Amino acid sequence: MRLETKTALVTGAAGGIGLAIARRFAAEGANVVMVDRNADRLTESVNATQGEVRALVGDVTVPDDVDRMVALCESEFGGLDICVCNAGVIRAAEFLDLELADLDFVLNVNVRGAFLTAQRAARAMVRQGQGGSLIMLSSMTAELAMSNQLAYGASKGAVRQMTKSMALAMAPHGVRVNALGPGSIDTDIMATISNNPDNLRKVLSRIPMTRLGRPDEVAGVALFLASEDSSYVTGQTIYADGGRLAL
Ligand code: NAD
Repeated sequence: MRLETKTALVTGAAGGIGLAIARRFAAEGANVVMVDRNADRLTESVNATQGEVRALVGDVTVPDDVDRMVALCESEFGGLDICVCNAGVIRAAEFLDLELADLDFVLNVNVRGAFLTAQRAARAMVRQGQGGSLIMLSSMTAELAMSNQLAYGASKGAVRQMTKSMALAMAPHGVRVNALGPGSIDTDIMATISNNPDNLRKVLSRIPMTRLGRPDEVAGVALFLASEDSSYVTGQTIYADGGRLAL
């Protein structure tokens, strides 16, 4: 058990990558507070998850909700050691067609929401004085431009850069801050692509490993970043992309 005695907060945990991370952490002995704004899906997922898990319905863009997330970790489990800022959204549109409302929506959740969650969790870790690990969800699109992913790519590039600033600020407190950069992972966010055989074929042709990734393959990297195995790693973005960025 690599996370025994640890408490983790995972946002966007009702499905996809967040759920896989929450389950992996719980299986490794962590207490896990699973957060999502989708109440029905969260209840279903938490009920089907083994271990010391709690559900909290909340929105990462709302400061009071984020305060409640941290407070639940403290009241239920006595503190917070690991925070995975995973909640994220996507809106595909070409540059010339992108609506400001869609740009705002993506930046609000992926950048402002991730910042807010990370900052409130980091403040709790500083108060506790026992170090910790913050894990941000970036994406291969932080490195790889796609003409219809301007908003999403900008948000994930911002997360990658925020990760470095946070790592510098938190190093003196013994808190490590890293990002995970998934490639094409088989979740709801990918459904518009994976449900269309032509689009899927195109995507797969650009992935050296010739398949989509599974959420549990991203969870394995999150476990590395959460555990003592990465005790000298901070400020990094680790890509789990089947070799896509090596092309
Ligand atoms: P998903 O859509 O399956 O899950 C995202 C979850 O976040 C959903 O349950 C949703 O309800 C929740 N959420 C969205 N906005 C929220 C908010 N404001 N407050 C609380 N919860 C909110 O997506 P996923 O593929 O599991 O993505 C997880 C993370 O990984 C995201 O940050 C995404 O950008 C990133 N990512 C995914 C891929 C991929 O291919 N799937 C690739 C790169 C990066």
